[in-house]
Amino acid sequence: MAKPKYTTHLGMVDILPDESPKWRALEQIIHEEAAKFNFEEIRTPIMEQTELIVRGIGQLTDIVSKEIFAFKKGDSHYVLRPELTAPVVRAFVEHHMQQRGGSQKLYYIGPMFRAEKPQKGRQRQFHQFGVEIIGSDDPVADVECISFMMQIYKRIGIKNFELKLNSVGDPESREAYKEALRDFLKPNLDKMSELSQKRFEKNPMRILDSKEEEDQEFIKKAPVIQDYLNDESKEHFERVTNYLSELGIDYTLDPYLVRGMDYYTRTAFELTSPDLGSQDALAGGGRYDLLVEEIGGQDTPAVGFAAGMERLMIACEELDINLAEEKSVDVYFVTLGDEARNWALSHLPKVREAGLSATMDYMSRSMKAQMKDANRENALYTIIVGGNELQEGKFTLRNMKESEEASLEFEAIVEKLTQKLL
Ligand code: AMP
Repeated sequence: MAKPKYTTHLGMVDILPDESPKWRALEQIIHEEAAKFNFEEIRTPIMEQTELIVRGIGQLTDIVSKEIFAFKKGDSHYVLRPELTAPVVRAFVEHHMQQRGGSQKLYYIGPMFRAEKPQKGRQRQFHQFGVEIIGSDDPVADVECISFMMQIYKRIGIKNFELKLNSVGDPESREAYKEALRDFLKPNLDKMSELSQKRFEKNPMRILDSKEEEDQEFIKKAPVIQDYLNDESKEHFERVTNYLSELGIDYTLDPYLVRGMDYYTRTAFELTSPDLGSQDALAGGGRYDLLVEEIGGQDTPAVGFAAGMERLMIACEELDINLAEEKSVDVYFVTLGDEARNWALSHLPKVREAGLSATMDYMSRSMKAQMKDANRENALYTIIVGGNELQEGKFTLRNMKESEEASLEFEAIVEKLTQKLL
Protein backbone atom coordinates (compact mmCIF):
# COMPACT_ATOMS: atom_id res chain seq x y z
CA MET A 1 0.00 0.00 0.00
CA ALA A 2 1.31 3.46 -0.90
CA LYS A 3 2.42 5.50 2.08
CA PRO A 4 0.36 8.65 2.64
CA LYS A 5 1.91 11.97 1.60
CA TYR A 6 1.54 14.86 3.98
CA THR A 7 1.56 18.52 3.04
CA THR A 8 0.99 21.78 4.87
CA HIS A 9 -2.56 23.04 5.13
CA LEU A 10 -3.77 25.31 2.36
CA GLY A 11 -2.26 28.77 2.75
CA MET A 12 0.26 27.67 5.39
CA VAL A 13 3.85 27.96 4.28
CA ASP A 14 7.10 26.37 5.48
CA ILE A 15 10.01 28.76 5.83
CA LEU A 16 12.90 26.56 4.72
CA PRO A 17 16.61 26.96 5.58
CA ASP A 18 17.36 28.93 2.39
CA GLU A 19 14.70 31.46 3.35
CA SER A 20 15.07 31.70 7.12
CA PRO A 21 18.20 33.92 7.14
CA LYS A 22 16.28 36.75 5.49
CA TRP A 23 13.46 36.35 8.00
CA ARG A 24 15.98 36.57 10.81
CA ALA A 25 17.58 39.60 9.18
CA LEU A 26 14.21 41.32 8.93
CA GLU A 27 13.40 40.51 12.54
CA GLN A 28 16.80 41.88 13.55
CA ILE A 29 16.09 45.15 11.71
CA ILE A 30 12.72 45.45 13.45
CA HIS A 31 14.28 44.83 16.88
CA GLU A 32 17.02 47.38 16.23
CA GLU A 33 14.72 50.10 14.95
CA ALA A 34 12.23 49.44 17.76
CA ALA A 35 15.02 49.94 20.27
CA LYS A 36 15.85 53.30 18.64
CA PHE A 37 12.22 54.34 19.16
CA ASN A 38 12.25 52.96 22.72
CA PHE A 39 9.47 50.48 21.97
CA GLU A 40 9.31 47.38 24.19
CA GLU A 41 8.57 43.92 22.82
CA ILE A 42 5.44 42.04 23.86
CA ARG A 43 4.76 38.35 23.14
CA THR A 44 1.28 36.99 23.67
CA PRO A 45 -0.13 33.47 23.12
CA ILE A 46 -1.06 32.25 19.64
CA MET A 47 -4.57 31.44 20.89
CA GLU A 48 -7.03 33.82 22.49
CA GLN A 49 -10.60 33.59 23.69
CA THR A 50 -12.98 33.79 20.73
CA GLU A 51 -15.12 36.31 22.56
CA LEU A 52 -12.19 38.76 22.83
CA ILE A 53 -11.54 38.69 19.09
CA VAL A 54 -15.23 38.98 18.18
CA ARG A 55 -15.75 41.87 20.56
CA GLY A 56 -12.44 43.53 19.81
CA ILE A 57 -12.44 43.39 16.02
CA GLY A 58 -16.21 43.52 15.46
CA GLN A 59 -18.85 40.91 14.65
CA LEU A 60 -19.55 42.29 11.17
CA THR A 61 -15.98 42.55 9.94
CA ASP A 62 -14.69 40.13 7.29
CA ILE A 63 -12.13 38.80 9.74
CA VAL A 64 -14.70 37.75 12.33
CA SER A 65 -17.57 36.80 10.03
CA LYS A 66 -15.52 34.74 7.58
CA GLU A 67 -11.90 34.29 8.49
CA ILE A 68 -11.27 33.17 12.03
CA PHE A 69 -10.01 29.71 12.86
CA ALA A 70 -11.94 28.85 15.99
CA PHE A 71 -12.61 25.68 17.93
CA LYS A 72 -13.99 24.50 21.22
CA LYS A 73 -12.14 22.35 23.73
CA GLY A 74 -13.88 21.53 26.98
CA ASP A 75 -15.80 24.64 27.93
CA SER A 76 -13.32 27.02 26.30
CA HIS A 77 -13.65 28.69 22.92
CA TYR A 78 -10.26 29.15 21.30
CA VAL A 79 -9.33 31.24 18.30
CA LEU A 80 -6.01 31.42 16.48
CA ARG A 81 -5.17 35.10 16.64
CA PRO A 82 -6.01 36.89 13.37
CA GLU A 83 -4.22 40.09 14.45
CA LEU A 84 -2.54 41.40 17.57
CA THR A 85 -4.17 44.67 18.57
CA ALA A 86 -7.02 43.08 20.54
CA PRO A 87 -4.65 40.56 22.25
CA VAL A 88 -2.16 43.30 23.18
CA VAL A 89 -4.96 45.42 24.61
CA ARG A 90 -6.19 42.33 26.49
CA ALA A 91 -2.70 41.93 27.96
CA PHE A 92 -2.57 45.66 28.81
CA VAL A 93 -5.84 45.39 30.73
CA GLU A 94 -5.17 41.97 32.27
CA HIS A 95 -1.77 42.98 33.64
CA HIS A 96 -2.77 46.55 34.65
CA MET A 97 0.02 47.82 32.48
CA GLN A 98 -1.08 51.43 32.93
CA GLN A 99 0.51 51.08 36.40
CA ARG A 100 3.94 50.97 34.73
CA GLY A 101 3.36 54.68 34.13
CA GLY A 102 3.31 56.82 31.01
CA SER A 103 2.11 55.49 27.71
CA GLN A 104 2.99 51.90 26.85
CA LYS A 105 5.03 51.75 23.66
CA LEU A 106 4.82 48.14 22.58
CA TYR A 107 5.89 46.22 19.49
CA TYR A 108 5.52 42.64 18.34
CA ILE A 109 6.54 40.19 15.64
CA GLY A 110 4.71 36.94 15.01
CA PRO A 111 2.35 34.67 13.09
CA MET A 112 -1.34 35.48 12.54
CA PHE A 113 -4.09 33.28 11.12
CA ARG A 114 -6.96 34.10 8.80
CA ALA A 115 -8.98 31.62 6.73
CA GLU A 116 -8.70 33.65 3.54
CA LYS A 117 -8.51 32.41 -0.01
CA PRO A 118 -4.77 32.03 -0.54
CA GLN A 119 -3.02 33.88 -3.36
CA LYS A 120 0.27 35.69 -3.84
CA GLY A 121 0.75 37.87 -0.76
CA ARG A 122 -2.21 36.34 1.02
CA GLN A 123 -1.77 33.32 3.26
CA ARG A 124 -3.72 31.64 6.02
CA GLN A 125 -0.76 31.73 8.35
CA PHE A 126 1.21 34.91 7.77
CA HIS A 127 3.47 37.15 9.81
CA GLN A 128 3.07 40.68 11.02
CA PHE A 129 5.15 43.13 12.94
CA GLY A 130 3.48 46.07 14.53
CA VAL A 131 3.31 48.66 17.22
CA GLU A 132 0.71 49.64 19.81
CA ILE A 133 1.07 52.89 21.75
CA ILE A 134 -1.47 52.72 24.57
CA GLY A 135 -2.31 55.66 26.82
CA SER A 136 -1.82 58.76 24.67
CA ASP A 137 -4.24 60.62 22.45
CA ASP A 138 -1.60 63.12 21.37
CA PRO A 139 -1.12 63.30 17.57
CA VAL A 140 2.59 62.90 18.34
CA ALA A 141 1.86 59.24 19.15
CA ASP A 142 0.09 58.77 15.79
CA VAL A 143 3.04 60.29 13.98
CA GLU A 144 5.69 58.32 15.89
CA CYS A 145 3.78 55.18 15.00
CA ILE A 146 3.74 56.11 11.30
CA SER A 147 7.42 57.19 11.46
CA PHE A 148 8.45 53.82 12.86
CA MET A 149 6.51 52.01 10.16
CA MET A 150 8.14 54.12 7.42
CA GLN A 151 11.58 53.75 8.99
CA ILE A 152 11.53 49.96 8.56
CA TYR A 153 10.84 50.24 4.82
CA LYS A 154 13.29 53.10 4.45
CA ARG A 155 16.09 51.17 6.11
CA ILE A 156 15.42 48.14 3.91
CA GLY A 157 15.41 50.29 0.78
CA ILE A 158 11.72 50.06 -0.17
CA LYS A 159 10.87 53.60 -1.17
CA ASN A 160 8.16 53.21 -3.74
CA PHE A 161 4.97 53.37 -1.70
CA GLU A 162 1.96 55.47 -0.94
CA LEU A 163 0.80 56.45 2.54
CA LYS A 164 -2.97 56.85 2.51
CA LEU A 165 -4.47 58.77 5.37
CA ASN A 166 -7.95 59.45 6.68
CA SER A 167 -9.74 60.39 9.87
CA VAL A 168 -12.66 58.15 10.72
CA GLY A 169 -13.68 60.56 13.47
CA ASP A 170 -14.53 60.25 17.14
CA PRO A 171 -17.85 58.67 18.26
CA GLU A 172 -19.77 61.94 17.92
CA SER A 173 -18.48 62.63 14.40
CA ARG A 174 -19.08 59.01 13.43
CA GLU A 175 -22.71 59.10 14.55
CA ALA A 176 -23.33 62.17 12.41
CA TYR A 177 -21.54 60.59 9.47
CA LYS A 178 -23.26 57.21 9.83
CA GLU A 179 -26.61 58.95 9.68
CA ALA A 180 -25.63 60.83 6.54
CA LEU A 181 -24.31 57.61 5.04
CA ARG A 182 -27.52 55.73 5.82
CA ASP A 183 -29.61 58.55 4.32
CA PHE A 184 -27.50 58.38 1.17
CA LEU A 185 -27.43 54.57 0.82
CA LYS A 186 -31.02 53.79 1.83
CA PRO A 187 -32.75 54.51 -1.51
CA ASN A 188 -30.45 52.00 -3.28
CA LEU A 189 -29.96 49.50 -0.52
CA ASP A 190 -31.85 46.73 -2.29
CA LYS A 191 -29.37 46.95 -5.19
CA MET A 192 -26.39 46.47 -2.91
CA SER A 193 -24.69 43.27 -1.74
CA GLU A 194 -26.24 41.12 0.95
CA LEU A 195 -23.32 41.80 3.26
CA SER A 196 -23.68 45.56 2.88
CA GLN A 197 -27.39 45.29 3.59
CA LYS A 198 -26.51 43.42 6.76
CA ARG A 199 -24.01 46.10 7.76
CA PHE A 200 -26.35 48.96 6.96
CA GLU A 201 -28.04 49.36 10.35
CA LYS A 202 -25.29 48.50 12.77
CA ASN A 203 -22.20 49.68 10.97
CA PRO A 204 -22.73 51.43 7.64
CA MET A 205 -19.08 52.63 7.56
CA ARG A 206 -18.03 49.02 6.99
CA ILE A 207 -19.83 49.25 3.65
CA LEU A 208 -17.10 51.61 2.44
CA ASP A 209 -14.65 48.72 2.84
CA SER A 210 -16.79 46.42 0.67
CA LYS A 211 -15.06 44.67 -2.22
CA GLU A 212 -18.38 43.58 -3.78
CA GLU A 213 -18.80 44.71 -7.37
CA GLU A 214 -22.42 45.89 -7.02
CA ASP A 215 -21.52 48.22 -4.12
CA GLN A 216 -18.79 50.17 -5.83
CA GLU A 217 -20.86 52.73 -7.75
CA PHE A 218 -22.62 53.76 -4.54
CA ILE A 219 -19.45 53.88 -2.48
CA LYS A 220 -17.84 56.15 -5.05
CA LYS A 221 -20.57 58.77 -4.61
CA ALA A 222 -21.05 58.42 -0.87
CA PRO A 223 -20.64 61.44 1.41
CA VAL A 224 -17.16 61.81 2.92
CA ILE A 225 -16.46 61.81 6.63
CA GLN A 226 -14.38 64.98 6.49
CA ASP A 227 -17.62 66.95 6.17
CA TYR A 228 -18.89 65.47 9.44
CA LEU A 229 -15.84 65.70 11.69
CA ASN A 230 -16.43 67.77 14.82
CA ASP A 231 -13.91 70.45 15.80
CA GLU A 232 -11.91 68.16 18.09
CA SER A 233 -11.49 65.41 15.49
CA LYS A 234 -10.68 67.97 12.83
CA GLU A 235 -8.01 69.59 14.99
CA HIS A 236 -6.48 66.23 15.89
CA PHE A 237 -6.28 65.23 12.24
CA GLU A 238 -4.83 68.59 11.23
CA ARG A 239 -2.08 68.22 13.80
CA VAL A 240 -1.28 64.72 12.52
CA THR A 241 -1.01 65.95 8.93
CA ASN A 242 1.01 69.01 9.97
CA TYR A 243 3.53 66.90 11.88
CA LEU A 244 3.83 64.50 8.95
CA SER A 245 4.52 67.40 6.61
CA GLU A 246 7.11 68.79 9.00
CA LEU A 247 8.85 65.40 9.02
CA GLY A 248 8.78 65.29 5.23
CA ILE A 249 6.52 62.21 5.18
CA ASP A 250 4.33 62.36 2.06
CA TYR A 251 0.73 61.18 2.27
CA THR A 252 -2.46 61.10 0.20
CA LEU A 253 -5.84 61.82 1.76
CA ASP A 254 -8.30 59.00 1.13
CA PRO A 255 -11.76 59.82 2.51
CA TYR A 256 -13.05 56.26 2.03
CA LEU A 257 -10.26 54.52 3.91
CA VAL A 258 -11.97 52.78 6.84
CA ARG A 259 -9.75 49.70 7.34
CA GLY A 260 -10.89 46.20 8.22
CA MET A 261 -11.56 46.44 11.94
CA ASP A 262 -14.37 48.22 13.76
CA TYR A 263 -12.16 49.56 16.51
CA TYR A 264 -10.59 52.43 14.59
CA THR A 265 -11.34 56.04 15.61
CA ARG A 266 -9.86 59.27 14.22
CA THR A 267 -6.56 58.57 12.42
CA ALA A 268 -6.58 55.66 9.94
CA PHE A 269 -3.76 54.91 7.51
CA GLU A 270 -2.55 52.36 5.02
CA LEU A 271 0.74 51.90 3.22
CA THR A 272 0.49 50.44 -0.28
CA SER A 273 3.16 49.49 -2.79
CA PRO A 274 2.84 49.36 -6.58
CA ASP A 275 5.43 46.54 -6.53
CA LEU A 276 2.97 44.12 -4.92
CA GLY A 277 0.30 43.54 -7.58
CA SER A 278 -3.28 42.99 -6.45
CA GLN A 279 -2.49 42.48 -2.74
CA ASP A 280 -0.84 45.87 -2.54
CA ALA A 281 -1.23 46.72 1.17
CA LEU A 282 2.09 46.61 2.99
CA ALA A 283 0.79 47.85 6.32
CA GLY A 284 -2.08 49.61 7.97
CA GLY A 285 -3.18 51.04 11.25
CA GLY A 286 -4.78 53.83 13.12
CA ARG A 287 -6.16 55.07 16.37
CA TYR A 288 -8.48 52.92 18.50
CA ASP A 289 -9.48 55.11 21.41
CA LEU A 290 -12.49 52.99 22.39
CA LEU A 291 -10.99 49.51 22.35
CA VAL A 292 -9.38 49.41 25.80
CA GLU A 293 -12.68 50.32 27.45
CA GLU A 294 -14.61 48.03 25.10
CA ILE A 295 -12.71 45.04 26.37
CA GLY A 296 -12.94 45.88 30.04
CA GLY A 297 -10.25 48.46 30.77
CA GLN A 298 -10.43 52.11 31.67
CA ASP A 299 -11.06 54.77 29.06
CA THR A 300 -7.59 54.81 27.40
CA PRO A 301 -6.69 56.19 23.98
CA ALA A 302 -4.32 54.21 21.76
CA VAL A 303 -2.83 54.02 18.29
CA GLY A 304 -1.00 51.31 16.35
CA PHE A 305 -0.23 49.63 13.06
CA ALA A 306 0.45 46.16 11.68
CA ALA A 307 2.62 45.30 8.69
CA GLY A 308 2.61 42.13 6.62
CA MET A 309 6.06 40.53 6.57
CA GLU A 310 5.41 38.22 3.57
CA ARG A 311 4.40 41.30 1.55
CA LEU A 312 7.59 43.02 2.60
CA MET A 313 9.55 39.97 1.43
CA ILE A 314 7.74 40.05 -1.92
CA ALA A 315 8.59 43.74 -2.33
CA CYS A 316 12.26 42.93 -1.57
CA GLU A 317 12.24 40.24 -4.24
CA GLU A 318 10.69 42.57 -6.80
CA LEU A 319 13.30 45.19 -6.00
CA ASP A 320 16.24 42.75 -5.83
CA ILE A 321 16.96 43.63 -2.23
CA ASN A 322 18.93 40.97 -0.35
CA LEU A 323 18.13 41.09 3.33
CA ALA A 324 20.61 38.42 4.34
CA GLU A 325 24.21 37.82 3.40
CA GLU A 326 25.01 34.59 1.64
CA LYS A 327 25.33 31.82 4.19
CA SER A 328 28.78 30.53 5.05
CA VAL A 329 30.64 28.58 7.70
CA ASP A 330 34.08 29.69 8.93
CA VAL A 331 35.69 26.28 9.17
CA TYR A 332 35.02 22.85 7.67
CA PHE A 333 37.07 19.92 9.03
CA VAL A 334 37.91 17.54 6.18
CA THR A 335 38.81 14.19 7.70
CA LEU A 336 40.33 10.96 6.41
CA GLY A 337 39.67 7.88 8.53
CA ASP A 338 38.07 7.20 11.89
CA GLU A 339 40.92 8.54 13.97
CA ALA A 340 40.82 11.85 12.13
CA ARG A 341 37.04 12.03 12.56
CA ASN A 342 37.37 11.50 16.31
CA TRP A 343 40.06 14.14 16.47
CA ALA A 344 37.91 16.60 14.50
CA LEU A 345 34.89 15.97 16.72
CA SER A 346 36.93 16.75 19.82
CA HIS A 347 38.50 19.87 18.26
CA LEU A 348 35.31 21.43 16.85
CA PRO A 349 34.39 22.89 20.26
CA LYS A 350 37.76 24.67 20.48
CA VAL A 351 37.13 26.50 17.22
CA ARG A 352 33.58 27.35 18.29
CA GLU A 353 34.83 28.61 21.66
CA ALA A 354 37.05 31.01 19.73
CA GLY A 355 33.85 32.51 18.34
CA LEU A 356 33.92 30.88 14.92
CA SER A 357 31.42 28.61 13.23
CA ALA A 358 32.70 25.13 12.48
CA THR A 359 31.40 21.88 11.04
CA MET A 360 32.61 18.53 9.72
CA ASP A 361 31.42 15.67 7.56
CA TYR A 362 28.94 13.32 9.29
CA MET A 363 28.75 10.79 6.49
CA SER A 364 32.27 9.30 6.21
CA ARG A 365 32.57 10.61 2.68
CA SER A 366 35.69 10.65 0.50
CA MET A 367 38.02 13.62 0.74
CA LYS A 368 36.89 14.81 -2.67
CA ALA A 369 33.24 14.65 -1.63
CA GLN A 370 34.05 16.51 1.59
CA MET A 371 35.84 19.30 -0.31
CA LYS A 372 32.81 19.56 -2.57
CA ASP A 373 30.56 19.71 0.47
CA ALA A 374 32.78 22.41 2.02
CA ASN A 375 32.30 24.48 -1.13
CA ARG A 376 28.56 23.90 -1.10
CA GLU A 377 28.49 25.06 2.53
CA ASN A 378 30.49 28.09 1.46
CA ALA A 379 33.25 27.28 3.97
CA LEU A 380 35.82 30.07 4.30
CA TYR A 381 38.50 27.64 5.53
CA THR A 382 39.05 23.90 5.63
CA ILE A 383 41.28 22.05 8.07
CA ILE A 384 42.50 18.84 6.48
CA VAL A 385 43.09 16.01 8.92
CA GLY A 386 44.56 12.62 7.95
CA GLY A 387 46.85 10.00 9.48
CA ASN A 388 50.07 11.86 8.62
CA GLU A 389 48.79 15.12 10.01
CA LEU A 390 47.83 13.44 13.26
CA GLN A 391 51.26 11.88 13.57
CA GLU A 392 53.08 15.13 12.89
CA GLY A 393 50.69 17.25 14.93
CA LYS A 394 50.43 19.68 12.01
CA PHE A 395 47.35 20.20 9.88
CA THR A 396 46.66 21.84 6.55
CA LEU A 397 44.69 25.04 6.84
CA ARG A 398 43.27 26.08 3.47
CA ASN A 399 41.80 29.44 2.62
CA MET A 400 39.12 28.31 0.20
CA LYS A 401 38.71 31.60 -1.62
CA GLU A 402 42.39 32.42 -2.07
CA SER A 403 43.38 28.76 -2.51
CA GLU A 404 46.26 29.33 -0.08
CA GLU A 405 47.49 26.69 2.32
CA ALA A 406 49.70 26.44 5.38
CA SER A 407 50.74 23.52 7.54
CA LEU A 408 50.34 24.47 11.19
CA GLU A 409 49.78 23.15 14.70
CA PHE A 410 46.19 23.30 15.84
CA GLU A 411 46.75 26.19 18.30
CA ALA A 412 48.40 28.25 15.57
CA ILE A 413 45.47 27.48 13.27
CA VAL A 414 42.97 28.79 15.80
CA GLU A 415 45.14 31.86 16.31
CA LYS A 416 45.27 32.54 12.58
CA LEU A 417 41.57 31.91 12.13
CA THR A 418 40.53 34.31 14.86
CA GLN A 419 42.69 36.97 13.27
CA LYS A 420 41.63 35.88 9.74
CA LEU A 421 45.31 35.96 8.84
CA LEU A 422 45.60 33.34 6.13
P1 AMP B 1 -4.57 44.19 8.85
O1 AMP B 1 -4.23 43.51 10.16
O2 AMP B 1 -5.71 43.54 8.12
O3 AMP B 1 -4.67 45.67 8.97
O4 AMP B 1 -3.33 43.92 7.90
C1 AMP B 1 -2.10 44.55 8.06
C2 AMP B 1 -1.16 44.02 7.02
O5 AMP B 1 -0.97 42.61 7.21
C3 AMP B 1 -1.68 44.13 5.61
O6 AMP B 1 -1.39 45.41 5.09
C4 AMP B 1 -0.90 43.04 4.90
O7 AMP B 1 0.39 43.50 4.57
C5 AMP B 1 -0.78 41.98 5.96
N1 AMP B 1 -1.79 40.92 5.80
C6 AMP B 1 -3.08 40.93 6.19
N2 AMP B 1 -3.68 39.77 5.90
C7 AMP B 1 -2.76 39.00 5.29
C8 AMP B 1 -2.75 37.67 4.76
N3 AMP B 1 -3.83 36.90 4.79
N4 AMP B 1 -1.59 37.20 4.22
C9 AMP B 1 -0.49 37.96 4.18
N5 AMP B 1 -0.44 39.22 4.68
C10 AMP B 1 -1.54 39.73 5.23
